[in-house]
Amino acid sequence: MTNVTFPAGAVSATATVTEVLPSLSAVMTDSTPFHPVDHTWPDQPADTGTIEGEAVSDVVMAARSPEGEWLLGESIPVKRGTEGWAWAIAHIVHDATRFTVGHRADLRVEADRRQALSIGHTACHLASLALNAALAGYWSKDARPDALGRPDFDGTANQRSRILASGARDEFRLGKSLRKKGFDTARLPASLPELQGAVNRRLDAWIATAAAVRITTEGPNITDLRKWVCELPEGTASIACGGTHVTSLTELGAVSVTLTAEDPQLLVMETSAAALSSGSAA
Ligand SMILES: [Zn+2]
Repeated sequence: MTNVTFPAGAVSATATVTEVLPSLSAVMTDSTPFHPVDHTWPDQPADTGTIEGEAVSDVVMAARSPEGEWLLGESIPVKRGTEGWAWAIAHIVHDATRFTVGHRADLRVEADRRQALSIGHTACHLASLALNAALAGYWSKDARPDALGRPDFDGTANQRSRILASGARDEFRLGKSLRKKGFDTARLPASLPELQGAVNRRLDAWIATAAAVRITTEGPNITDLRKWVCELPEGTASIACGGTHVTSLTELGAVSVTLTAEDPQLLVMETSAAALSSGSAA
């Protein structure tokens, strides 16, 4: 098991090496500040940085099967936290043979890039909530509620989300199953400019409140449930999330979205934050 310190914002640590897998170029430690890419919902990319001065090119989930075999990233056949499997984080390095189990290692995350991804991830959650609000009138049936109690278009239709440096890109499937759930997809294409304006006005209003953002955790392990929590004027928004975030909406600068649907089956929302650190990373 790897304890994680990125939810509290850590970008460096000294930790003990617990596993070295030279054939997989992987080094594991008892704790890490590195955010790994998730193997089933890879929205936020892995942190970059160094371990004992050696470049960390990727950070992935590691799982040891009940038979004792370690698998990494996409080759893990079960969901994060599945019982019977041991869960850890693997730092991918060029030469894992220079690491020794039991030795201490110095871990350093590239902080500017982390901050840019944290800005992008918080902006992504805000934009999704603002999009849900703008589309609330498009539902003719009861929909699952989002973190503010509105119909959850994002949670229902999002098929791909990617966190970028100071931004995000989300794709929503406007298909038959969404129509069956009572969403009026036919009305959408002609309304995009109006919707985009509504989302951006709400984002401006939310950011003007300078609300605090925090991550709550149920424990220190990578498999423990974590939530993004933000006090918005409509109420406290709480969303299950394994990513990294800023601590205040003031860190985002201005956030705006563009909505496009070149393919009528696919709504694309591109979010960008004008935060001061936006030019510094990935
Ligand atoms: Zn998230």
